[in-house]
Amino acid sequence: MDNRKILVIYTGGTIGMMMDPETHTLKPFEFDNIRQQLPMLDLIGADITFQDMLPLIDSSDTNPDFWIRLAAMIGCHYDEYDGFVVLHGTDTMAYTASALSFLLENLSKPVILTGSQLPLGVIRTDGRRNILNAIAIAAEYRDDRPVIQEVCIYFQNNLFRGNRTYKDDASRFNAFMSPNYHNLADVNTTVEFHYANIHNEEVVKPLIVHDRMDDHVALVKLYPGIRTEFLETIFRTPGLRAVVLETYGTGNAPTNPEFGRILKEAVDAGIVIVNVTQCKGGGRVEMGRYLTGKKLADIGIISGLDLTTEAAVTKLMYLLGQLDDNADVRREMQGSLRGEMTIES
Ligand code: ASP
Repeated sequence: MDNRKILVIYTGGTIGMMMDPETHTLKPFEFDNIRQQLPMLDLIGADITFQDMLPLIDSSDTNPDFWIRLAAMIGCHYDEYDGFVVLHGTDTMAYTASALSFLLENLSKPVILTGSQLPLGVIRTDGRRNILNAIAIAAEYRDDRPVIQEVCIYFQNNLFRGNRTYKDDASRFNAFMSPNYHNLADVNTTVEFHYANIHNEEVVKPLIVHDRMDDHVALVKLYPGIRTEFLETIFRTPGLRAVVLETYGTGNAPTNPEFGRILKEAVDAGIVIVNVTQCKGGGRVEMGRYLTGKKLADIGIISGLDLTTEAAVTKLMYLLGQLDDNADVRREMQGSLRGEMTIES
């Protein structure tokens, strides 16, 4: 059997940054010396090609145009390679993984994002192991098909479904969490794939690379004392099409009638409002559970169930980009498109 062909796309981020001697801040450099940093690459037994996606960015500069370009780059090389690894800054990696999962429809090859908390060139870097393992997993086949056929994040021994993750920690190596979906694999002395959790399509369909997103989406986090005039300003923004509302616990919000009026007017004006929980550690929105949540359901706010905020924002941008009618977006938001939320029967 020939070696698997893996394309590694470097987009920027700590993993390939170096210290600017003048400003003493980390900035991205072009990734041509990666092979020197990673002599063990040859042991993987894959044909690995590295490509920069220019301009390299700190992932704080990620946006829908960047996601569309990245999806297009993967689409353009899709037939030439068996798998893809994307090196990306950790700050917004969960957004990019979620966005890619929506933009790449019918994916049947691995797209694995990884990065690091410390740059590759430093002694304690986590980058080396993250890259090597991500590439090894992307090259993994079973019964002549890739084991992974979806967008994932590999970080510190965990392989996660990308659209289920969020960045949980700014300094620990174990930086990502997937509170509402099990790991796809755990990497210890052996790589243990959890096949029951991994998306697996029997029939391979042609990849569709979507190239439209609409960023008329706002994210509003509730907090005690939030002033209704702030909300009014946001919900009346010209062109606004959708709002992700981060509520308390199982989807609860203040019972203040003014607050209810603003939300109702927005829903009546066709704005799609999706209720997600602020609880990062897990759980789901159940708007019928408390009166405060039920009021939101009565107004016409949609439950985001166990969606992460990252998946909710990018799913809306994706759907708004495909559908002109907000009523269609409302309907599609309530189904799981790429395994991003758990629909209980
Ligand atoms: N600021 C960096 C970025 O997200 C941090 C990192 O890579 O971990 O690009």
